[in-house]
Amino acid sequence: MLEAPPSAQLVEAFANTVDVELGTDDVTEPAQLAAWLSERGLLPPGGRISPADHDLALRLRDGIREELGVHAGDSPDALRVAAAEEALRELPLLATVRRGAGPSLIPDPGLPPAKQALAAVAIAWSELLATGEVARLKRCAEHACAWVFWDVSKNRSRRWCSMRVCGNRTKARRYAAKHAAGSD
Ligand SMILES: [Zn+2]
Repeated sequence: MLEAPPSAQLVEAFANTVDVELGTDDVTEPAQLAAWLSERGLLPPGGRISPADHDLALRLRDGIREELGVHAGDSPDALRVAAAEEALRELPLLATVRRGAGPSLIPDPGLPPAKQALAAVAIAWSELLATGEVARLKRCAEHACAWVFWDVSKNRSRRWCSMRVCGNRTKARRYAAKHAAGSD
């Protein structure tokens, strides 16, 4: 039950294409993003991503990461969230009346393949919001890490991807700052 649903796994993977700690980004180039989307079956093999759609994807990713930071106690960067909202306007989703298997939202069939692929990420995000499961998806509160993780704790109380590493790093820094300030 606590295992991340497919929608959370997709959003988590998308958010973690950037690794703050290593200073790497798996999708810095449109071609890399196209490959990433193709690997997940969201874009037909050989499908292309324009620089504009690449930019849209990064804005969406940044905004999502900001919102996931909120779940670990951070304040969101309003500009980044607004930029993501704007990006979502270019990815219209349609409700479907077909009950049963399959998602309840689909990308607007009139969208070109690149936007349909990005709309799939938007749908995953919408599903998480609709079910409330989004609250378990968090950006690590240790800013040097900022890894996005699925919180499996019973009361959804985790703030760090790893208490052993990031939780203790945060505490050690606070301790050092406190002593440096001579407040002890
Ligand atoms: Zn962490």
